[in-house]
Amino acid sequence: MFLEFPLYRALDGLDTLYRIDGPRHFVEWQPIGSSRWLVHEHVAEIYPSQVLIQSLIHADDAQLKLSREEWNARRLKRKEPEQENAVGTIAQTTEDPAVLEGMDLASWTTFGISAHAAHWITAHSDDDVRFALSWRQERDAALLVMGGGSNMLMHADWEGLALHVGIRGVRVLKEEGGRIEVVVGAGENWHDWVMLALKNGWHGLENLALIPGQVGASPMQNIGAYGVELKDRFLWLEAIHVQTGSLKRFDAASCEFGYRESIFKSSEKGQWIIVRVAFFLKKNAPLQTAYGAIQQELKALPEESWTHADVAKAVMQIRSTKLPDPKKLGNAGSFFKNPVLGPDEFKRLQTAHPEVAHYPQSDGTVKVAAGWLIEQAGWKGKHRGTHGVHVNQSLVLVHYGGATGAEIWQLAQDIMHDVHSQYGVQLEPEVNQIGLNRSK
Ligand SMILES: Cc1cc2nc3c(=O)[nH]c(=O)nc-3n(C[C@H](O)[C@H](O)[C@H](O)COP(=O)(O)OP(=O)(O)OC[C@H]3O[C@@H](n4cnc5c(N)ncnc54)[C@H](O)[C@@H]3O)c2cc1C
Repeated sequence: MFLEFPLYRALDGLDTLYRIDGPRHFVEWQPIGSSRWLVHEHVAEIYPSQVLIQSLIHADDAQLKLSREEWNARRLKRKEPEQENAVGTIAQTTEDPAVLEGMDLASWTTFGISAHAAHWITAHSDDDVRFALSWRQERDAALLVMGGGSNMLMHADWEGLALHVGIRGVRVLKEEGGRIEVVVGAGENWHDWVMLALKNGWHGLENLALIPGQVGASPMQNIGAYGVELKDRFLWLEAIHVQTGSLKRFDAASCEFGYRESIFKSSEKGQWIIVRVAFFLKKNAPLQTAYGAIQQELKALPEESWTHADVAKAVMQIRSTKLPDPKKLGNAGSFFKNPVLGPDEFKRLQTAHPEVAHYPQSDGTVKVAAGWLIEQAGWKGKHRGTHGVHVNQSLVLVHYGGATGAEIWQLAQDIMHDVHSQYGVQLEPEVNQIGLNRSK
């Protein structure tokens, strides 16, 4: 099946143009004066937009179906408004992106494992994403979506297309009563975005400072650290369907966020390319300082003087002392999730091991510190020449150089096996395994 979207339409007899990005999403170019466009984005969730979009899709008598080239020729006759008025078009490109061959992914992933992608496209706009999707459909090539490569372990060369999402841009949608809504391109660096928000006084993301990777991947596993998760500040995201090219807006409920989980890792896995993420932030968002380590860092300052910037600084300080810097030592952060146990299962574990490190959850379940289990099982700092377990943080597997994905995966399996046989707890990897043949 080839991409169904976008569709290009014009109103017969008038200059108005439409680009239909998905069954609920269209953009309208209305002529104003003799030389300019007024551009409106419509997320068609309610009547009458839904009726209009249906009639546009089916192109009734008053509408012309245009090819992309015909439509673009008409659009270029007038000037577009300044970027900030063109909602829904964070970044636009005019030329098709280059297709590169044989890209070494070692420098594109924080583990730094050598693996080659047969083909590589960097997408700077929605159009580029759709170009890449058509390109790979025509060749029936397997698709690997890449952000910053900080949550993946490559097991083999990638024979298909690696699509690097490089869509940039940050735009304020609304600012009212101390609440700010901002949409950010999926290709923006996560930490840079957190710092930009902080600089502008848009608060709520400080505890997530210094997490590597890009904004587009942040909803994939609902990134979290020091008592805050992405979902706490998430408004919506827009994503393009890999088969149809259709754009869809997902609100928080439809993302089904959980602990290091979202719908994009479960029932919709591999179906969507996230192109931008919108956040709601607050000038006076409460400081999140419940974590002991943050309190410890802040204790030199009087509590009444603590600011959001202090919290961000504390988080960065803790992270840079506790976690290995991927620029110096290959890793993908926590390799395993903290297992979440039901009350009975946890009671059994605690009876046998009263000292087990754990965090009770509001729903009655208990999160057990995977790092504690791994350390107690004797794995902290274990070295296998080219790779091993980090000396300070047992949750992090590290690559000293020259290891393969399979070797690191073997280490992970050995750890999982030992933890299971000693504690009866099944660890699950947090890191995405790319190209792993699970039948092996
Ligand atoms: C030192 C270190 C510390 C870390 N600390 C934390 C932490 O505290 N909390 C935390 O939650 N995580 C942490 N991580 C993990 C990682 O940084 C996050 O998961 C991050 O969001 C991954 O972003 P990325 O752009 O690098 O994603 P990638 O590794 O490139 O991709 C991750 C997954 O998302 C998919 N993907 C990427 N971009 C898109 C897109 N635009 N559309 C659709 N699919 C996409 C990929 O196909 C892949 O399956 C850490 C990692 C490191 C190396």
